[in-house]
Amino acid sequence: MTDTRTLRERAAALQPRTELYIDGAFVPAADGRTFETRDPGTGRVIAEIARGGQADIDRAVVAARRAFDSGAWSDATPRERRAVLLALADLIEANGEELALLESLDGGKLYSQTSTEDIPGTAAIFRWYAEALDKVYGEVAPTGGDDLAIVTREPLGVVGAVIPWNYPLEMASWKLAPALAAGNSVVLKPAEETPLTALRLAELATEAGLPQGVLNVVTGYGVEAGQALGRHPDVDSIAFTGSTGVGRMFLEYAGQSNMKQVWLECGGKSANLIFDDVADLDTAIDFAAQGIFSLSGQVCSANSRLLVQRSVYDRVVEGVVARAKALRVGDQFDEQAEMGPLVSATQLGRVSKYVETGRTEATLAAGGTRPDALATELAEGSFLQPTVFTGVDPEATIAVEEIFGPVLAIIPFDTEEEAIALANASEYGLAASVWTDSLRRARRVSRRLQAGTVSVNTVDALDVTVPFGGVRQSGFGRDLSLHALDKFTSLKTTWFAS
Ligand code: NAP
Ligand code: MG
Repeated sequence: MTDTRTLRERAAALQPRTELYIDGAFVPAADGRTFETRDPGTGRVIAEIARGGQADIDRAVVAARRAFDSGAWSDATPRERRAVLLALADLIEANGEELALLESLDGGKLYSQTSTEDIPGTAAIFRWYAEALDKVYGEVAPTGGDDLAIVTREPLGVVGAVIPWNYPLEMASWKLAPALAAGNSVVLKPAEETPLTALRLAELATEAGLPQGVLNVVTGYGVEAGQALGRHPDVDSIAFTGSTGVGRMFLEYAGQSNMKQVWLECGGKSANLIFDDVADLDTAIDFAAQGIFSLSGQVCSANSRLLVQRSVYDRVVEGVVARAKALRVGDQFDEQAEMGPLVSATQLGRVSKYVETGRTEATLAAGGTRPDALATELAEGSFLQPTVFTGVDPEATIAVEEIFGPVLAIIPFDTEEEAIALANASEYGLAASVWTDSLRRARRVSRRLQAGTVSVNTVDALDVTVPFGGVRQSGFGRDLSLHALDKFTSLKTTWFAS
């Protein structure tokens, strides 16, 4: 029988998990406190969520350590771990509609994206690491003589994962899949704006056969649960994705406590360079718009600075502005919408401040305000039109600071040298894009751009097979690919004397 309810009605009928997941069971916060999570499309409260603090992080770390020491997971054979992670991937897909509804409800992401990208993408990440883990070999060192030195990868122990709200499930999977594949136990602290899918994921992991205590989820505030995890003396490593400011704090927490490892994926102000030798400018223009307006610009690698060679500058500006104005902004559950709300009223406030600053610094060519034709039930939603500033001075605030919203700064340049210098004039170095029809220029420019990923003739190239992460204050360490295992294992040398 077909379900005739609207997506919103289906989402409203769900009864999400709201308590902490510790040692294989849902439990309230030790002190009973809660906080609200809201639907950014309507502004309405979805649920009261357990507000984990120091005592809860302690409980979760004790459970994680006990599970690790028991060997139930850490000493399981790669094949056994593989079977559980594959079962989890299957369960994510089997419960895909529920997870996509929760993800869209909680974070305001378009259902057309969560259902086709985030959920299948999350399952794919678990599957990839499940399949990888019994294919990674150790090494025999070339010591010479009859001595034998072997180099093996060992799990670290207890990993703390702290993630942001823009890709709640996918960010969780980027940390959890390789960490669990390697045999670690994990305590995950999701973002306060988007706690719902992480709790459901933990439940599914137990259903898939993950031993209790191996994955714990402590919801709550960064300054409480996040800080307690960062300072915990029995956590071996922190895998963080979030802002540069908070990343810096985790380095301090580690220094103040047990010198745990810290791996940071932080902010960005990625440049997208369009050269005038591009024959198919329309495609470059389409991608330039997509590169900043996708997910309302709340993407760490968003192409928020568009650098355009002077001779094609007017054409590109005209094209990007037209696309910005044509984009349909609306309810995250409206399958016709191309851009949903920002994640919260707070985030809308932050981004709107940047728009006000931009008005004094540059020319506002599109957007800047709330879309006017929204349904009444979205009156309290956190919506902003796609916004474009032109003729932006490279030193203007909106050209320098990460806005994390649908706000594009377009900057003209004359020469290749100037373009490279402008692109690199940032404290960040997460990603960059280059549009050119010249192979030589593509190679020359991409080599000189200081970024973890350079996309040539596309934007935001990303796949589980390639490492993702930044340089400079975009952080260090890499997610995805086999390189992610470096963060979740230590190399052990065992030397057998002859
Ligand atoms: P955020 O404020 O840095 O928060 C990230 C996580 O850290 C959240 O779980 C947060 O908890 C926690 N946190 C906040 N303050 C803390 C503190 N004092 N101590 C310990 N933990 C704390 O980032 P966000 O606003 O959620 O996400 C946006 C940022 O993430 C942007 O800068 C973006 O560029 C970056 N990002 C980077 C990547 C990447 O791969 N490089 C990917 C996505 C996003 P609360 O939710 O309670 O604040
Ligand atoms: Mg929410």
